[in-house]
Amino acid sequence: MQSPSESLRIGHGYDLHRLEPLAPAGPGRRLVVGGVLLESERGPVAHSDGDALLHAVTDALLSAAGLPDIGQLFPDTHPENESRDSREFLKAAGNKVREAGWIVANVDATVILEKPKLSPHKQVMRSNIASALDIDASRVGVKGKTHEKVDAVGECRAIEVHVVALLVRD
Ligand SMILES: [Zn+2]
Repeated sequence: MQSPSESLRIGHGYDLHRLEPLAPAGPGRRLVVGGVLLESERGPVAHSDGDALLHAVTDALLSAAGLPDIGQLFPDTHPENESRDSREFLKAAGNKVREAGWIVANVDATVILEKPKLSPHKQVMRSNIASALDIDASRVGVKGKTHEKVDAVGECRAIEVHVVALLVRD
């Protein structure tokens, strides 16, 4: 029997993307969160598809396993990562975590976005994350919060995501 310090790892992931008016009015990409395209007049400025939720989950998992972070694995200077579907980053991170001998026990995310409302889409976001990681959706939590109209996030100028993930030894 391994001691808990050998058999458990927690990881934290954070991401923020600036939201700008959509092209052609501005540099914003379409707003994709957790693999779901949301209706919005503003979207993230990003090299990849700018999915802040998937980026933060990816980082939480990599960090828990002591692996290089998303920016190191998928540099935004690389043309092949341009406009890339972030589910590919998450899938790759899940594989690396598994190869390192870990199982994802659970992932818990808080998305802070002033609008639109996340609640109609949370179940799809959960199942998108779960299927990229090959785990049951019951192991994935997604919560939506607003920033009460204050600061950049509250003024719809940014999306912010916090994630924790727990790994257990395979
Ligand atoms: Zn990001």
